[in-house]
Amino acid sequence: MVSFTRDGFPIIEAEAKVTYELAQGATWHRFFEGLRQAKVLANRCPSCQRVLVPPRGFCPRCFVEMDEWVELPQEGVLVGWCLTEMGYFGQPTEPPFVTGVVNLDGADCGFIHLVGGIDLSEEAAVRKAVRNGMRVKVIWNTEKRGCIMDIRHFTPMG
Ligand SMILES: [Zn+2]
Repeated sequence: MVSFTRDGFPIIEAEAKVTYELAQGATWHRFFEGLRQAKVLANRCPSCQRVLVPPRGFCPRCFVEMDEWVELPQEGVLVGWCLTEMGYFGQPTEPPFVTGVVNLDGADCGFIHLVGGIDLSEEAAVRKAVRNGMRVKVIWNTEKRGCIMDIRHFTPMG
């Protein structure tokens, strides 16, 4: 059965599923092993001195190898966020959830992850609880598998 948009255009229903394998490489492997040990590891560019998390094999500005590792504090500032209320393929958790960009203390870039520990019952509650500029900290999952979801989410401090 064909359905239509409000403008009268037909809607194509389809499903795409892509199974793939991706080699972590040395940089991602070290980052994920850090998460397994409840550590947030970043690396510093020897040329521009920027500290990036997640770490990169090469500085995307200077194109030099980034081989100096630093452990970051597990807190920072929320600089952007988005409330997701509808499901989509490959989502990290069931909606509703909040995704945020966190500038971890000591890092020179944003780190994207979930923001949790807040009232997600309605949009107004989320807007009251989540604000750019607020301090957030890492909440770890009890069981760690050496993956990005070893961090359960960031949660507001205080
Ligand atoms: Zn650099």
